[in-house]
Amino acid sequence: MDFRELLDQNIQDLDDKPKEACGVFGIIAPAEDVARLTFFGLYALQHRGQESCGIATFDGSKIALHKNIGLVSQVFDETNLSKLKGDIAIGHTRYSTTGSTNIVNAQPILVSFKDENIALAHNGNLVNATELRDFLIKKGYSFESTTDSEVMAKLIVHELSSGKDLKKSIESAFSQCKGAFSVAIGTKDYLIAVRDSYGVRPLCLGLTSKGQSIIASESCALDIVGASFVRDISPGEILFINKEQKLSSSNFASTNTSSSHCIFELIYFSRPDSTFKGLSIYHFRKELGRQLAKESPCDADYVISVPDSGTPAAIGYAEESKLPFGEALIKNRYIGRTFIQPSPMLRELGIRLKLNPLKDVIAGKKIVVIDDSIVRGNTSKKIVKLIKDSGAKEVHLRISSPPVKWPCFYGIDIDSKEQLIASKSESFDEIAKFIDADSLKYISHAGMIKATDLHRNIFCTACFSGQYPIEIPKELNGAKLRYEKVEQKI
Ligand code: SF4
Repeated sequence: MDFRELLDQNIQDLDDKPKEACGVFGIIAPAEDVARLTFFGLYALQHRGQESCGIATFDGSKIALHKNIGLVSQVFDETNLSKLKGDIAIGHTRYSTTGSTNIVNAQPILVSFKDENIALAHNGNLVNATELRDFLIKKGYSFESTTDSEVMAKLIVHELSSGKDLKKSIESAFSQCKGAFSVAIGTKDYLIAVRDSYGVRPLCLGLTSKGQSIIASESCALDIVGASFVRDISPGEILFINKEQKLSSSNFASTNTSSSHCIFELIYFSRPDSTFKGLSIYHFRKELGRQLAKESPCDADYVISVPDSGTPAAIGYAEESKLPFGEALIKNRYIGRTFIQPSPMLRELGIRLKLNPLKDVIAGKKIVVIDDSIVRGNTSKKIVKLIKDSGAKEVHLRISSPPVKWPCFYGIDIDSKEQLIASKSESFDEIAKFIDADSLKYISHAGMIKATDLHRNIFCTACFSGQYPIEIPKELNGAKLRYEKVEQKI
């Protein structure tokens, strides 16, 4: 096990929440410090990936790139940021869903054909990446990374090499891609946004106060640089923006597909200060809590949350059930990001490294704990024990998402049913017994959709329902490291 694997292990031990794929950011703003603006945009998107990050800039003739393993604040400093000059910048922050943690897998990915340099940053996961990669290898392309993002980039080069112009090449390349992809592309002349035809991962367009265009995974990244939200990039849209801020949009999808936005983005992944179709994510999470209280009330003294993601739902639950809400688990926000391993003695403390209970709030009370999801169940078990060890009379768990029973193939790190406690267990009572909670209830599927206040057909809910909007190839099962395996066989 190398150093990075040990770090991953540390983080996983302290947090079994599913991990988001990535955050992307792009800006076209002549005469502005585009690298610095991208740095702050990535800062706002740090929650979407903490393994590596990078920024590429274009000054009209040259391309500059800096990327590395680590957080945005660790990878960038004044010296390397000042070398990233230009009118256009593309940024990326990564968590691996295809390919292991490795500097060669960090993005943006650079490719070139003749005088066309391209930087590409991707959020999502292709379900036909193996097929496309094999096709490109047969055509003589080699790969530096193990990511599906490099497959996309090389596919664009392949289309350019057949004589098509940039626009046609990008349309043709993405029409061959199946799966989830929200992509920011930079060239010497354009900022380009691409979103898969189901719109699984988010991507939005914003404008600075000077009318310069930005694309970002979430609206919170627009807010941090003082830009305003304009609209979401539509499913299947390719948007070209030139330096005069002229927008030209086309649709590459060959068939009409219905939108399938990842509902887990609203429940857990996106920041609460982001919006989706005008809906505040914070407000949605509060509504989930209200709905949960209506469906599964609890005779308790006190409502607490598993911070931070469970907090809006806990506030909604408390308001609806007219119970007091308060903080009782204090989160150490930086422990999961340390490069220093806990000693064996500290490791035994487990969840205490991340959450510290307020005993005087908990002792002698019947507590209802609100969390946004249960994946493997190990962390929930530790949290219940922590609260019981602090003197709680009873601990009742209420979950503001339905049971996670199915893997995700669209860019979230839940890749096998065997990992999922709701899939392995016969009943909620069996899960409650494993977790040692006095009771356990989940919000219903219908209740979750009701809380969105939007039509149900616009969402992917496959990890709750098993109904996948994009067909999954049979061989794609738990295949996060599939390229490494293939290469080892060779
Ligand atoms: S399967 Fe679940 S996590 Fe994956 S895209 Fe669909 S809703 Fe989101």
